[in-house]
Amino acid sequence: MDASTTQHAGQIAQGAPHAFHDHGDERDLGQASWRGFLRRCPACGTGPMMKGYLQVRDTCTVCGEEMHHHRADDGPAWLTIILVGHLMAPILGWAFIEFRPDPMVLTAVFGIGTVALSLWLLPRFKGLMVGFQWAKRMHGFAPDVPDPARKGA
Ligand SMILES: [Zn+2]
Repeated sequence: MDASTTQHAGQIAQGAPHAFHDHGDERDLGQASWRGFLRRCPACGTGPMMKGYLQVRDTCTVCGEEMHHHRADDGPAWLTIILVGHLMAPILGWAFIEFRPDPMVLTAVFGIGTVALSLWLLPRFKGLMVGFQWAKRMHGFAPDVPDPARKGA
C-alpha cells in the first residue's frame, strides 16, 4: 500500500463527507464533463480540480477521488485551437466586410480577443477532458486496471 492509497483509505475511515467508492456503476458522462468544464471534481462536483491555472490536483480535496490518472496531454490545446479558430476566423471576415475598421484596430481587437478567449477556454477544456476520461474510466480511472504510468504502483 503506497502513500496515496493510505491517505485515501484514511479519508474514508475518517468518514469524509463525500467519500467516493467506485462500485463500477455507470458514470454520467455529461455531468462529469460539465463538472470538469467548471474545473470541479467530476466525482463530487464540489472540490476544485485545478491547482493553479492548468495543473490537475492528484486527489480531490473534498471527496478524495484520485484525479492524477488523467491523460489530457495536448488534447485541450487542440480543442481550444479548433474552437477559437473556427469562431474567430469567420467573425474577423464578417467584421472586416461589415465595418471596414482600421487594420490596426482590427488586429488589436482580434489579437487580444483571440488570446483572451484561448486562455479562458484552455483550463476549461482540460477539465472537460479529465471529466470525460473519468466518466469513461479511461487510463488509471478504471478501478481494477493498474495505471501503467503511475510510479510505484
Ligand atoms: Zn471530489
